[in-house]
Amino acid sequence: MADIIQLLPDHVANQIAAGEVVQRPASVVKELLENAIDAGANTIKLIIKDAGKTLVQVIDDGKGMSTTDARLSFERHATSKIKSADDLFQLNTKGFRGEALASIAAIAHVELKTKQETDDVGNTIQIEGSKVVTQEIVVTPKGTSVAVKNLFFNIPARRNFLKSDAVELRHIMDEFHRVALAHPSINFLFYNNGSETFNLPVSNFRQRIVNIFGSKTNEKLVPVNEDTEVLKISGFVGKPEFAKKTRGEQYFFVNNRFIKSAYLNHAIASAFEGLLKNGTHASYFLNLDVDPQTIDINIHPTKTEIKFDDEHTLYAILRSAVKHSLGQFNIAPVLDFDRDPNLDTSYTQQKINIKAPEIEVDRSFNPFKNEPIKTESKSSFSGRQTTSFKPTPNNWDSLYVGVASKEINNNNETLVDFSEVQFESEEQTASMFDNNEVEQANTTYQIHNKYIVSTIKSGMLVIDQYRAHQRVLYEDFLKNLTIKEATSQQLLFPLQLHFSKQDVEIISQLKEDLEFTGFLFSEITKETVEITGVPVGVPESEVSIILEQLISDVENEVPDSNFSAADLLAKSMAKSLAIKTGQALKKDEQEHLVNKLFACKEPNVSPANKTTFITMSVDELDKKFI
Ligand code: ADP
Ligand code: MG
Repeated sequence: MADIIQLLPDHVANQIAAGEVVQRPASVVKELLENAIDAGANTIKLIIKDAGKTLVQVIDDGKGMSTTDARLSFERHATSKIKSADDLFQLNTKGFRGEALASIAAIAHVELKTKQETDDVGNTIQIEGSKVVTQEIVVTPKGTSVAVKNLFFNIPARRNFLKSDAVELRHIMDEFHRVALAHPSINFLFYNNGSETFNLPVSNFRQRIVNIFGSKTNEKLVPVNEDTEVLKISGFVGKPEFAKKTRGEQYFFVNNRFIKSAYLNHAIASAFEGLLKNGTHASYFLNLDVDPQTIDINIHPTKTEIKFDDEHTLYAILRSAVKHSLGQFNIAPVLDFDRDPNLDTSYTQQKINIKAPEIEVDRSFNPFKNEPIKTESKSSFSGRQTTSFKPTPNNWDSLYVGVASKEINNNNETLVDFSEVQFESEEQTASMFDNNEVEQANTTYQIHNKYIVSTIKSGMLVIDQYRAHQRVLYEDFLKNLTIKEATSQQLLFPLQLHFSKQDVEIISQLKEDLEFTGFLFSEITKETVEITGVPVGVPESEVSIILEQLISDVENEVPDSNFSAADLLAKSMAKSLAIKTGQALKKDEQEHLVNKLFACKEPNVSPANKTTFITMSVDELDKKFI
């Protein structure tokens, strides 16, 4: 039989390998920026068109390449950065595999211009799908420019797989931020579709963070510094009160390289223990310097994971350093019984004589002196009697001083308006007396502030309140978005919210859709969004949470979802606004939710396709009682 194994032609092998390195425009951005840094650039310019789908260009003023190197740089495994396997353990550069340019050139139109300082003229090379189209002498400034056009032009499936511009741009921004944060001593410029989005001057780390995430960030940062033999830590954590719902601003840099580490992230989370509201995440920007010999970054070209020799020690040092900083800045609650109490009062306050609060006692009070209070009939507690019950005895009211509003009658006697007091007992006892009506359909109970239980003909129904409400809101929002009609509630004062630039970018992309849900925007600038109206029923305090959730949902949009922006928006808002697990619901609220759920088109599942309710028939219940 004939031999059937063949070597793949180079350009095919390159395309396959390219898939490993280049997943999306942001991967190109990362590789080109890192090459520019490795070349020792002082200023790096990133130019993006159409979220990188049309153009990604990086221009640097680094050391440039010779004529031969310019040509060689596109060969696979061509690198100037390591010469032998040993060098891998002393890595000071970002790149070392010599794969990036070859990979990119296999799946795009690439134009390179480069010149070394001592040369008079430079070289330009054009490559399309690994084929060199031209190589010429060119007049160009010192440094290198790599322009990558029409990414995935020869792999339509990959091109179609790319997400919306908003999402791809977000990924690009993320890469840009990571690189720019790791190198505050380099001037970075970012042009998106012709306009300057970032100009980050050479600065210290703190200023770099502020320049990227907005001036409001400054007051949120708590410095963290620690210098041990195995690990040097420098950087900042965000104050707990500014913790975010999403994990957006969390950065570890190990030897100036952005990395992700669930383990080290846990160290930070545990240092913050007890300081964060449930479901929020602290932000951090931390540089970790370790001996390059003790880490292994050669795992995967696009992976940001890293292997440490001694992770446990790093964990412990990191956790205690962050804890220490939080404590020092008086953020963590201090429970130290040996502490000098004088230290607790600030110096300026120490000399001031503080008046003890005075307690007034009504000495004439004697609850037994007057006629006893009439015992109430059961019905008045069951919540059906609405007239308020006003006892007149003179002294009875003193029990409620400061609790209920007072009324003075004609005889100058104080009357207590018991309607408020009564209201409390109404709620507590209502369900007890309603027990008589268990037989009736539509009776609902809430258990563990999580599920709503109701009787149905065949047996019982258990509803997950959070999922059910999401379904209800989702269908509502989707309807509004489709018929483009929503009622908006005007705010008395416009609400100004601060976001990072790329977050604002996402909001402006979704502005129109948001307006169909009832949001009104008066102004969107680089870092602020001014809102003058919100969807009816949305509390002002929730607005920033809704938008934050939305931004993170857009960012994490599920792969190959072909859902529209409207769908995403409706889902996201439903998620933010739905009554959560843990929230107590009044009877009528429970009933309303049940009725609304079953009026939905698809009551069985939440917008995220999770079960909203289960039923259990009397038969099934019977079986359990055998
Ligand atoms: P790696 O960075 O892993 O070495 P690349 O494919 O990214 O591999 O680059 C190949 C080589 O091309 C580099 O080793 C370097 O010598 C050269 N090179 C790439 N980009 C630049 C640049 N901006 N300035 C100078 N040299 C560069
Ligand atoms: Mg490289």
